[in-house]
Amino acid sequence: MKIFCIGRNYAQHAKELGNAIPDEPIIFAKPPTALLKDGAPFYHPDFSDDIHHEAEIVVRIAKNGKHIDPKFAHKYYDHLTIGIDFTARDLQSRLKTKGHPWEIAKGFDGSAPIGQFVALSTLPAVNNIGFTLLKNGQPVQNGNTANLLFDFDTIISYISKFFTIQQGDLIFTGTPEGVGRVQIGDVLEGFIGEQKLLHCEVK
Ligand code: ZN
Repeated sequence: MKIFCIGRNYAQHAKELGNAIPDEPIIFAKPPTALLKDGAPFYHPDFSDDIHHEAEIVVRIAKNGKHIDPKFAHKYYDHLTIGIDFTARDLQSRLKTKGHPWEIAKGFDGSAPIGQFVALSTLPAVNNIGFTLLKNGQPVQNGNTANLLFDFDTIISYISKFFTIQQGDLIFTGTPEGVGRVQIGDVLEGFIGEQKLLHCEVK
């Protein structure tokens, strides 16, 4: 199982971090040990003082494929959830300044909590899915897939040029604006529409 992530896929988020808007998808990956499921807590690592939440729609790949044409990409996924791409922003900034890969700032253990999956068929149109992250009961991120720079089909087609996608692979599709720091004791809750799918406590 592979976990792909898309960087800077919402213009307002690229702007809040002072990044340019990309002209093709920015792809990185997390190892399977990053995954947190079923409401498991996130243990705050001690190598960072600035772990950020990035709430994202997560697409689950339903069948294997390679070199997928964008017009057929919709056949390769049928379930979604909300997840958090935890990011050690302090480490990432240091690595970016040096021009180094940011893997350790993004792929560490527990950096990819995901909620329960829901069938795409039960959701509104794929290009109009609203999602929300609450931190300690307060909304901190609100996104809608209408604002994606690269939609799911484009992302899947692009990834499949380089990697064989396999059933069960996950794609974190990018975060909207509102990212911010988490601390021990915080409770994060993720919603698609009104439906709560993700619960993650920071310990
Ligand atoms: Zn992200």
